[in-house]
Amino acid sequence: MQMVDFEFRNELIKGAFSLNYCYQCGTCSSTCPVALITNGEYNPRKIIEQSLLGLKDLLLKDQKPNVWLCCTCQMCVEECPQNVFLTEIFEKIKNKIVLLGEPYPETYKMQAISVIQHGLAIPLTQPIIRRRDQLGLPNVETANIKELKKLLDATDFEKKIKLFEVNK
Ligand code: SF4
Repeated sequence: MQMVDFEFRNELIKGAFSLNYCYQCGTCSSTCPVALITNGEYNPRKIIEQSLLGLKDLLLKDQKPNVWLCCTCQMCVEECPQNVFLTEIFEKIKNKIVLLGEPYPETYKMQAISVIQHGLAIPLTQPIIRRRDQLGLPNVETANIKELKKLLDATDFEKKIKLFEVNK
């Protein structure tokens, strides 16, 4: 049985106070495109309920399908009648998973490496550049790698996301 962890619940509420306003109407789940394509298996309302209950182990270790499926499209945030900022709460949960050293999808690590190396989460390949040209889209600006590196060093980013594990 999952234990209610009030400290964890309060940690989630801190900085994401809107969590308190959820009255479990389910609008978020009915508008979520990921819920739609997973036939309701991914369920943002449920994640919010578990957050309200402070079910720490479930949220950080055992949840399937878990919060990483959220693609941050913000549909739930747009539609929530209580103005609950769901994606902010999911982001807090994701950060905690990473800091605890729990597994998280490899693709996020790859994107982090790409940001460090190229200043973009998704590197520009020749086909992407060609397609953008065909569509008349403007050039993609990349971040200043040196400045970025300073910021990432200041936040201990590389160590936190354990990049060395994929660099082996
Ligand atoms: Fe809670 Fe808002 Fe989702 Fe309704 S739409 S269940 S109030 S988070």
